[in-house]
Amino acid sequence: MVDHSPDRLPVVVIGAGPVGLAAAAHLAERSVPFVVLEAGDTPAASVRAWSHIQLFSPWEFNTDPAARRLLAAAGWEEPEASALPTGGDLVKQYLQPLAELPALAPHIRYGAEVTAISRLGVDRLRTADRERTPFVVRLSDGGELLADAVIDASGTWRRPNHVGANGLPAHGEEEAAAWINHGLPDVFGSDRAHHAGRHTVVVGAGHSAANTLLALAELADAEEGTTITWAIRGADPAASFGGGTDDELPARGALGSGLKMLVDTGRVTLAANFRTHTVRRLGDDPARDRVELVSRGADGSERTITADRIVAATGFRPDLGITSELRLELDPIMSAPRALAPLIDPNQHSCGTVTPHGYRELSHPEPGYFTVGMKSYGRAPTFLMLTGYEQVRSIAAALAGDMEAAQSVELQLPETGVCSVTAGGEALALRLGLSQEQHEQLLHATAKHLGTSSSAAEAVLAAATELGIDHTAALQLAAYAAEQFDAPGATGC
Ligand SMILES: Cc1cc2nc3c(=O)[nH]c(=O)nc-3n(C[C@H](O)[C@H](O)[C@H](O)COP(=O)(O)OP(=O)(O)OC[C@H]3O[C@@H](n4cnc5c(N)ncnc54)[C@H](O)[C@@H]3O)c2cc1C
Repeated sequence: MVDHSPDRLPVVVIGAGPVGLAAAAHLAERSVPFVVLEAGDTPAASVRAWSHIQLFSPWEFNTDPAARRLLAAAGWEEPEASALPTGGDLVKQYLQPLAELPALAPHIRYGAEVTAISRLGVDRLRTADRERTPFVVRLSDGGELLADAVIDASGTWRRPNHVGANGLPAHGEEEAAAWINHGLPDVFGSDRAHHAGRHTVVVGAGHSAANTLLALAELADAEEGTTITWAIRGADPAASFGGGTDDELPARGALGSGLKMLVDTGRVTLAANFRTHTVRRLGDDPARDRVELVSRGADGSERTITADRIVAATGFRPDLGITSELRLELDPIMSAPRALAPLIDPNQHSCGTVTPHGYRELSHPEPGYFTVGMKSYGRAPTFLMLTGYEQVRSIAAALAGDMEAAQSVELQLPETGVCSVTAGGEALALRLGLSQEQHEQLLHATAKHLGTSSSAAEAVLAAATELGIDHTAALQLAAYAAEQFDAPGATGC
């Protein structure tokens, strides 16, 4: 795809996070010249910011095959496959040693923040000879690099979403910035004083919110007067409780189950249907004065939560500013490459499962530019490193001209129980005393009844009656189907 004769230009990789470094490892193995540009002063600057958080995927899912090969050749000892590292462990035991390898280190530039990408001497409108015109990559210090291709692995960590329910900054959010922590506070470390003996409101419904709520609950056990409110936009927190024991990443399942327990036991006060419209500071000193979150309904009615501290666990978004001179084809909802978006849209897939994909799905009308890693998912929150490693394996192969390898698929992802109707349904059926065979018959019979039933639950009941399945078991299976398919917002994926 790209001419790699000695006088050709390098591939620029933006970001030395897990996926950018994996891209570098694959390019190094294929002898494709490359430069990694990292805004931070160290590798994995973003992962370091959440170094106190334990990953939900064990080591076996966290390292890239090409990186492992290069590290092993240098005498690296692979961590125990089933152990769960923290972000800090991931950096110390894997990403830092990877970045220090002689095959990578001379090609990584730190303190190199990319501010824009374009083509040499032409703007977005110019078509003639575009694919043979080098990329120009501009840095914050004004310097520029030329490149044959660009792999954008800059993540989304540096662009947290606002607390405003509509995606815009809430009114007053900027003025109250000193009260708000974006991302994942270290409540047992540097952020302890913000939360100990105080009232924190956590806004958001994803894994980050779950992580923070669990940590705050532990802090509340140790520090009297620590109270916690969890504000979510939706009516029902069930989606945040995840797949529980059905999740093939048990640590991720446990996050959701732990959160459910906190809400059920009242250790966390749930504020559902809370749509933050305004943030109001009630003084000037964030160490002493409180802050108010105001939710405004469609009818203008208001609800208020008063707290000492706000944690905005509202997700992240990609920085599209740096690519505004490129021809990108992005999904209008997710801001992910158009071909990838349907595979990851959280409206369809609350899952975390994704069909393995590579250079084809990640290509844009701008030949030679690829978005990978966390950034490739745009606003979808379900990215796994393993997915990113497969992306860059395929892209590096394509850039080296090995189209057979680029098109092959070499990835098996763990499945999230929430999405795996068969896994969840099957587990329930077995618990209720049905045999594997009866469960399969039930699935077939249900499929037959779906066309004539008004709901999935009704179809299950009809099928169960037809097969003579015990009525109590049939009712429970129908309730499960209703939860998965018939409830408002159920995805059934
Ligand atoms: C708290 C948390 C826990 C997670 N746990 C898991 C887990 O258990 N398992 C899992 O598979 N995934 C997990 N993820 C999701 C995801 O795999 C990680 O976020 C991962 O770090 C993404 O890797 P990345 O290389 O795409 O992006 P990042 O790690 O965000 O790296 C991007 C890099 O690009 C740099 N950069 C950004 N902008 C620029 C710029 N303009 N110029 C130059 N450099 C720039 C950044 O400094 C950073 O070093 C987790 C995410 C979070 C936030």
